Amino acid sequence: MRILLGDNEIREGVRRLGREIQAFYGHRPLTIVGVMTGSVMFLADLLRELTMPLRVGVIQARSYRNSKAGKLVMNAEFMPQIAGRDVLLVDDIFDTGQTLFELTEQIDCLRPKSIRMAVLLTKEGRQKVGRNPDHFGFEIPDQFVVGYGLDYRDAYRHLPYIAILEEPDRIAAERMAEEAERGAVAAV
Ligand code: 5GP
Ligand code: MG
Repeated sequence: MRILLGDNEIREGVRRLGREIQAFYGHRPLTIVGVMTGSVMFLADLLRELTMPLRVGVIQARSYRNSKAGKLVMNAEFMPQIAGRDVLLVDDIFDTGQTLFELTEQIDCLRPKSIRMAVLLTKEGRQKVGRNPDHFGFEIPDQFVVGYGLDYRDAYRHLPYIAILEEPDRIAAERMAEEAERGAVAAV
């Protein structure tokens, strides 16, 4: 794997982002909504940088991009109360932006006082929506990355750094996924 961002660099970036977010909201209470599962590490590290009163919840988004509708299904079972609150949506990466754009639209229907988005990564030249992340840590080249929460077929999420997925890593992950599937079938 080719390391793109090491753990020290990530830590510094998250700290910088935390300061930026803190400066924007000041001491106003903030409701943070993390998008599972990719944002787990970023969310946990970012929370530690913030000192205003905080509420934290999570949502899960599943996109049906191959279907015609291209719509996003949102599991909001663990989402905190949104109405009347300043909400910050936190995710791992802003690629085309479609996911976060649709999530903000859906959350907007719950009448928050404000809604902004913070991502760790944003990809160069990929944005397809009319809105950019309000806060981001790093701009990266248009390549598929894993680690620090980001997965490929459920593998590599736990890596403490962010790396570009190379062909051997991709093959290894495919093999692990197939084995897991076989194991699950055998266990039934
Ligand atoms: P978007 O809707 O912005 O195009 O895509 C957002 C989602 O696609 C992200 O939340 C993430 O789950 C996935 N994604 C986009 N680029 C990458 C990448 O380079 N690596 C990984 N692991 N996931 C990505
Ligand atoms: Mg995601």
